Amino acid sequence: MGLTLHPSKTRITHTLHPQGETDGFDFPGFTVRQFPAGKYHTAHNAYGTPLGFKTLIQPSPTSIKRHQEKLKQIIERHQAATQSQLIAALNPVIIGWSNYFSTVVSSQAYQGLDHWLYLQLKDWATHRHPRKSQRWITNKYWLLHRGEGWTFAAVTPDGIQRLAVHNRTAIKRHIKVQGNRSPFDADCLYWSTRMGRHPQIGQQVASLLKGQRGKCAHCQLFFKDRDLLEIDHIIPRAQGGKDEFTNLQLFHRHCHDVKSANDGR
Ligand SMILES: [Zn+2]
Repeated sequence: MGLTLHPSKTRITHTLHPQGETDGFDFPGFTVRQFPAGKYHTAHNAYGTPLGFKTLIQPSPTSIKRHQEKLKQIIERHQAATQSQLIAALNPVIIGWSNYFSTVVSSQAYQGLDHWLYLQLKDWATHRHPRKSQRWITNKYWLLHRGEGWTFAAVTPDGIQRLAVHNRTAIKRHIKVQGNRSPFDADCLYWSTRMGRHPQIGQQVASLLKGQRGKCAHCQLFFKDRDLLEIDHIIPRAQGGKDEFTNLQLFHRHCHDVKSANDGR
């Protein structure tokens, strides 16, 4: 493919046996390590032979630290703001970070972060009310919910506003494409449902995929996993076509270009 490795940016590392501090590697925010594992937890090779270790991908210590610094800055900037303003500033950062790492094993990292954040918020609250007791502060800024424990939450005119919790982000493991599947086989259902479940595919596209049985309405070929999909108006909008489901079809992007050019004629 014409790629070369940059020697100063390249490191050969063992992912299982520690060699000093260099075991495993970090790759955009993720740490890849292997850990010795007993017979119930070990990974297996393609022939079912136990390997004696398992591979874990986790948020790297650097990305956890960077995330903590960001949260800390937000808390410091909101020293004089209301609890509601603080929660509104923290939530998108917590949710964004948690979602980014939700495809890897992060439960431990999430738990650690939530505890760390609790301590930061306790300081934030104590700092505002130096003369009040811990009990008073807890009652003012934390709510006790059955089954959920204590939540940093503000009571606003619109209802209760809660702080997002890292550890409540469901961990979604990536599902590999089954080895014996081909985008060109007849089992379009597998592909449509697989793609329909993709978090970046909206409901409209998923429904169209299902209706078209996984095929492009222009070239009749099955959509493949990384194809760019575009929604087309069967009767173009310029010609009075409505923005209704019955006037929509799903195309490959390149097929859409061909059709749009013809529509213009
Ligand atoms: Zn097509």
